[in-house]
Amino acid sequence: MIIAKNAVVGVNYQLDVDGQKIDASGEQPLMYLHGHGMMIPGFEKQLAGLKEGDKYDFKVSPAEGYGEFNQNAVVDLDKQIFLVDGSMSTEVFEGAQLQLTNQDGQPMVGVVQKIGEDKVTMDFNHQLAGKELHFTGSIASLREATEEEISHGHVHGPGGHHH
Ligand code: ZN
Repeated sequence: MIIAKNAVVGVNYQLDVDGQKIDASGEQPLMYLHGHGMMIPGFEKQLAGLKEGDKYDFKVSPAEGYGEFNQNAVVDLDKQIFLVDGSMSTEVFEGAQLQLTNQDGQPMVGVVQKIGEDKVTMDFNHQLAGKELHFTGSIASLREATEEEISHGHVHGPGGHHH
């Protein structure tokens, strides 16, 4: 069989960005259900058609990865909202990752870029937005998903979800 929709894929991978290793599978391959949007679009697209034992090496553009860098997602917020009992929260410093809640009550994770006089600049882009992703690895295992896995939209058994 080859990788196609509803295949359960065990994949060994390494992700490099700007020549630096960002992430990799551990001793066990990553298990995912192909064609259900679990992985970034460019990754699934490149793996489609591969067989067990195949090696791969490809690059994914930002558009098919974590999106283009959006300047509108870099915002200046009033310093007031970061004050705890009148002084700056110790969790707020340049480079800190913070979770805030937007007007709709949705959690948003951003990184503090700059702390100014009365504004704090935060970047809510995904940290890999605008980056080309370089994936290398191999297909460790491949099988058809069960009906139950397809209806749940995820992998069961070793490396997957347990119920
Ligand atoms: Zn399940």
